[in-house]
Amino acid sequence: MSKISIFSHSSQEFASQIRSRLGKGYQHAQLIYQEWYRTGKITGEHPAFANAQVLFQQIQQLTDFSVLPLATHQQEGATGKFLLRTEDQLEIESVLIPMQAGGTLCVSSQIGCRMGCSFCETGRMGLLRHLTTREIVNQLFVARFHLGFEVRNLVFMGMGEPLDNYEQVMQAIRVLTDPHGFGLGIHHITLSTSGRVESIYRLMEEKQPIPHLAISLNAPTDELRNRLMPINRLYPLQALYDAMHAYNTKTGKQILVAYVLMKGQNDTLAHADLLAAYLRGLNVKVNLIPYNPQSRDRYQAPEQSTLEAFTASLRQQGYYTLLRQTKGRKIMAACGQLGNLELRRQRKKNPLALLK
Ligand code: SF4
Repeated sequence: MSKISIFSHSSQEFASQIRSRLGKGYQHAQLIYQEWYRTGKITGEHPAFANAQVLFQQIQQLTDFSVLPLATHQQEGATGKFLLRTEDQLEIESVLIPMQAGGTLCVSSQIGCRMGCSFCETGRMGLLRHLTTREIVNQLFVARFHLGFEVRNLVFMGMGEPLDNYEQVMQAIRVLTDPHGFGLGIHHITLSTSGRVESIYRLMEEKQPIPHLAISLNAPTDELRNRLMPINRLYPLQALYDAMHAYNTKTGKQILVAYVLMKGQNDTLAHADLLAAYLRGLNVKVNLIPYNPQSRDRYQAPEQSTLEAFTASLRQQGYYTLLRQTKGRKIMAACGQLGNLELRRQRKKNPLALLK
């Protein structure tokens, strides 16, 4: 009989499964779950186990506590990138970003990505596979207990399109926010999408609390966005606008719009005006991100003066706009830079056509 992975289930699901196997042990299983996520180990020292050591052993034997091994951990200043090795010898990339209000962990939801955005290192890999809930939750576990990183915010902005792996990502969010587990606040989680419109509608119908939504926009016209982000051919800007508007209205939540600025591509003041016009009527804040040079430079980073002018223009037009500082460029941990070169050589065909 297969073991029950402690990383794949909420505390209730885990305890229920233990009880269904043993006919007892629900509360003891919850205690084990709690200790595991609070301390990174289990000791059986809780007073409830004083006269229940046999039960403790039984629960332990039924549970899969295995953690993916750390393949590498690199640091550039305070920003870190680490790779976990999967059982099928692939690598999961995660980025640690210390901030004043607590650390942010950027997690991956897939190995590779099939969205094929032309400015993104991960997009060039194609999709190797989705991550499981266990593999997603493992990233936070390793950051906290093996690397000692206190995670306050978690963003699904690593490798992959999280809404393309909807079930596993939502289950991971249930585990990450479980009050008997990590207890991460749902308001401290952000899910970033390239614009999978039907999944945005699905998200807003969820019964469980939903995280913040970020839209990776990057272009204010269909012609340009089709070129940069092939998903736009399936869900053009008007469809995306309607989904964002519905999301604002239904959830009352603001959306973070991410816009990667690439020299000579989408960074002129005319683009800023088009972007401002497109976003009118939406409850958004804008995050401008200077393009990060990659292993094969097709695009270039924008000039500082262009960044400042673009930011000022959006602000003048009434948008709350942040200009993000680039961190982790040298270790290829910055936005759009995740993607293993070796894996890319083994990549499968980019099956964007399978989306619908
Ligand atoms: S930007 Fe995001 S959605 Fe686009 S290819 Fe990269 S990881 Fe995938």
